[in-house]
Amino acid sequence: MADPVVIICPSCATANRVPATRISESPKCGRCSQMLFQGAPVAVSGQAFDRHVKTGSLPVLVDFWASWCGPCKAMAPAFAAAAKGLEPRVRLLKVDTEAEQAVAARFAIRSIPTLILFSGGREIARSAGAMDQRAITSWVNQHLPPS
Ligand code: ZN
Repeated sequence: MADPVVIICPSCATANRVPATRISESPKCGRCSQMLFQGAPVAVSGQAFDRHVKTGSLPVLVDFWASWCGPCKAMAPAFAAAAKGLEPRVRLLKVDTEAEQAVAARFAIRSIPTLILFSGGREIARSAGAMDQRAITSWVNQHLPPS
């Protein structure tokens, strides 16, 4: 049997161990009973960000954005649509760079929107500037070939 996968709950940030074979069967959080995959990006604090990136097993795609940024707002629907297609293989997060300046500073975000792809807790790719849904998905697949 395959090793369990650690999935961080989008609602309460609890780490859930889910058998790899059941990851696509709409697993729920053992603590708050919410769905572990909701087909949408998760807006995270710095603390939840670290749990998803460092504790969770899944690759994580992060949209660094701000409310005053027009291109960020324009890209938001594409990023949300990408989440539907990429879950449960990849976790998609949104970091508000105004509210979470420490996270933005840690990754030296100089322009927004910036997308960073993490795997195994480490940054493996970064792209600045808005993308449409197709571009987001193919950029992720280019760095994380479907297994
Ligand atoms: Zn939960």
